[in-house]
Amino acid sequence: MDFTERQNKIIEIVKEHEPISGDRIAGYLGLSRATLRSDLAVLTMVGILDARTKVGYFYTGQDVKPLVYDQLFEVTVKEVMTTPIIVEQTLSVYDAVTNLFMYDVGSLYVKNDQDELVGVISRKDFLRFVIGNSNAENTPVAMIMTRMPNIVTVTPEWTILEAGNLLMQHQVDSLPVVTKDNPLKVVGKLTKTRLMNHFIQAGNDSNNS
Ligand code: ADP
Repeated sequence: MDFTERQNKIIEIVKEHEPISGDRIAGYLGLSRATLRSDLAVLTMVGILDARTKVGYFYTGQDVKPLVYDQLFEVTVKEVMTTPIIVEQTLSVYDAVTNLFMYDVGSLYVKNDQDELVGVISRKDFLRFVIGNSNAENTPVAMIMTRMPNIVTVTPEWTILEAGNLLMQHQVDSLPVVTKDNPLKVVGKLTKTRLMNHFIQAGNDSNNS
C-alpha cells in the first residue's frame, strides 16, 4: 500500500511531535482539520497512527504492516503459478494415475489435438472411477474428467487474493492459468499448495528481516 504525499507528511509530523492533536497537524500543513479527516482515518486504520481521545495521535512504528499486505496478497498469479502436467484426452486412466505419482501432483490438465484445455482430472475423479470398478487400462481420461465449460480458470494478471477466493468458492485444489486472449490456452497452474508455500515463505522472510 502506497501512501499519498500528504499522508507521508502527516506521519513525519506525528513522529516528531507526538502526541499531537488533529488540529495541530492541520496547522503544520496549513490545511483545515476537515480536509485531513480521511487521511487520519486511513493512517489509524492501517495501524500506523494510534489515536487516543483527548491526547492526540501517536506514531506506532508499525509501518511495515501495509508493506506485508502488498507482499502477501497483491502478488500476481503469474509470480506464483507452477508448470502443469498436461495430458492427451486419449491417455488411459491407468497411465494418468501413473503420471500423478511420477510428477507428485494432485491433478492433471487435459488437452485436445489443438492444444486447447478440455478437462481437469484429480484424485477424487480417480477414486470415483475405482469405486465403479471399471477397466483403468481401457478407459480414456476423457471419460472421467471434469469438462469445459465447467472448469474454473484464472489469467496470470489476477492477484492471488482474487484467485484464492475463487479456489475457496469452488472448493477445488487448483486453477488452470490461461491467457487473457485465449481462455483455452494453458500457461500455468495455481495450486493451494503453492499459495501455502508463498504465505509461509513470506512469513519466514519477514521474521528474518
Ligand atoms: P481432489 O480430487 O484431490 O480433491 P479437487 O478438489 O481439485 O481435487 O477436485 C475435486 C473435483 O473438482 C474433481 O472432480 C475435479 O475434476 C474438479 N476440479 C478440479 N479443479 C477444477 C477447476 N479448476 N474447475 C472445475 N473443476 C475442477
